[in-house]
Amino acid sequence: MKTKLTTLAVALLTSLTLAHEGVEIGPNGGRILEFSKNETLHGEITVQGDSFHIAVLDKDMKPVAVTEQTLTAITGDRESPQKLPVTKTEKGFTLPAVKAGEWLILQFKLDPKAKAITARMEYNTSECEACKSPEWLCKCKPEAEKK
Ligand SMILES: [Zn+2]
Repeated sequence: MKTKLTTLAVALLTSLTLAHEGVEIGPNGGRILEFSKNETLHGEITVQGDSFHIAVLDKDMKPVAVTEQTLTAITGDRESPQKLPVTKTEKGFTLPAVKAGEWLILQFKLDPKAKAITARMEYNTSECEACKSPEWLCKCKPEAEKK
């Protein structure tokens, strides 16, 4: 009984998070970004050394094979946007990690002809006092704090 309630609570909390576009953490402890307009596809960003790895996940947060999908990555500000080299792997995409405090802007396409979905996140590496995670992976940040 308790397990069922917990599962329900988690499901409710997850849907709330999605609705408010708060920080969502994926199955591998990475940051979830939306790669669709209807929550059917997500990207999960994890850091491996000096690189970001982006896995593509379906609506149930299960890995999706990367075949036709494309990803473009940009960092920097509006005056001097900088394109990042993206390497496609079987499990997703790899690109150099952006500098701490900078934005990562991604444009994901289901296939080269599809409409691009834009997702972005601030790579804020300062530690959250409450959950001791870096802010970009903060599990407790209220949406009101977002810029
Ligand atoms: Zn936190």
